[in-house]
Amino acid sequence: MQKYFQPEIECASLEDMKKLQSEKLVAQVKRVYDNVEYYRNLMDEKGVKPEDIKSVDDLHKLPFLSKADLRDAYPYGLLGTDLRNCVRIHSTSGTTGKRVVAYYTKNDIDLWEDCCARAIVAAGGTEEDICQVAYGYGLFTGGFGLNGGSQKVGCLTLPMSSGNTERQIEFMRDLHSTIICCTPSYAAYIGETLKEMGLTPDDIDLKAGIFGAEPWTEEMRHDIEKSLGIKAYDIYGLTESTGPGVAFECSAQTGMHINEDHFVPEIINPDTGEVLPVGEKGELVFTNIDKEGFPLLRYRTRDICVLSREKCSCGRTLIKMAKPMGRSDDMLIIRGVNVFPSQIETVLLNEGYSPNYMIEVDRKNNVDTLDVFVELNPEQFTDTVKGVSAKEKELALAITQMLGIRPSVHLVAPKTIARSEGKAVRVVDKRKLHD
Ligand code: ADP
Ligand code: ZN
Repeated sequence: MQKYFQPEIECASLEDMKKLQSEKLVAQVKRVYDNVEYYRNLMDEKGVKPEDIKSVDDLHKLPFLSKADLRDAYPYGLLGTDLRNCVRIHSTSGTTGKRVVAYYTKNDIDLWEDCCARAIVAAGGTEEDICQVAYGYGLFTGGFGLNGGSQKVGCLTLPMSSGNTERQIEFMRDLHSTIICCTPSYAAYIGETLKEMGLTPDDIDLKAGIFGAEPWTEEMRHDIEKSLGIKAYDIYGLTESTGPGVAFECSAQTGMHINEDHFVPEIINPDTGEVLPVGEKGELVFTNIDKEGFPLLRYRTRDICVLSREKCSCGRTLIKMAKPMGRSDDMLIIRGVNVFPSQIETVLLNEGYSPNYMIEVDRKNNVDTLDVFVELNPEQFTDTVKGVSAKEKELALAITQMLGIRPSVHLVAPKTIARSEGKAVRVVDKRKLHD
């Protein structure tokens, strides 16, 4: 039996899980109240004392923390223990504004790597595997997190980091990598490069990929699975809650199991803060119940998703979260309509285009404009030189049907849109320049 498939936790009954969470939460709230002045002040303002928290059912009594609090308290205001007990710092990738930093004790790193190890095992990883980690190493959590998890499972670990794509493929072939971990946009790029090198999935030994750190669609999953000849598994996490491995996908590939023994999830209405029942869509909130360095309680992730307690075919009972299709702050409001970039991605891939696209939003004469630039595949390019404008119209119509607003579509030559080796930047909102 795999050490990192832990049925006593991963398949625990709801009652046992709540008991475990409650014990940890009660101790954690007390520790945070004693050690973190910033949060103690928030609790005092709300009139909540540690004694008021007797089980996870009392979670809703605690105040929220938001990214603004993290920036306010930067750099050390939310430290949960003496700095001398911390052994590492990571930082968010700064996708949305100023970076925040998180601290880890030795124990925090250990638990985090356990979570990543569970993810690798759920994707079929064993000590027989050769795991190529092509997430960036450094302040970003991706590389180190999966690296630690891979070693815990006993996989032979290749700390490639991201970039140098042809070399990634060379190593993959020479060393017979069986698992790859990177962002989905980088996986798509590796697939594209493989083809350009005149190779097919039969020339490599990969069987699984563990992809996360950014939103990606089901269509993108199919695309990657085909181009690399693998099963593609989703993994979710955020620096504030430790890093990748907060939640991971199993063989069912229908949402990610949350490591609830460490992270207690809630879904709230982002406008009112009201807790919503399991199954309703809203903002995901996490409470770290055993982190020491950076013990965030009720942290608002701004990720919009749905939780589910439905029985999973893999046997795990850990609650599942649906793929978050973007953060509330990734949502574009164009001519009053809410648009997530992932909706556009779905249409593009369904219509047979490449996942290389760019969305540009601007405001001209007080009207919002939406321009979608999409690369043609090399085959489409030669086929369609004449028919480009007809194709653009067709695609604009398909996007209009999805969004309810009409974009201008521009089909561009292959290789004209920058590829991503980490988190892809898909949107340029020029309206911000005018504000
Ligand atoms: P930043 O906030 O600077 O991007 P992180 O690198 O910590 O910092 O990124 C965490 C965020 O990345 C999450 O809050 C979420 O929005 C996104 N994310 C991570 N994994 C996934 C995933 N599997 N699917 C969709 N979004 C994801
Ligand atoms: Zn499952």
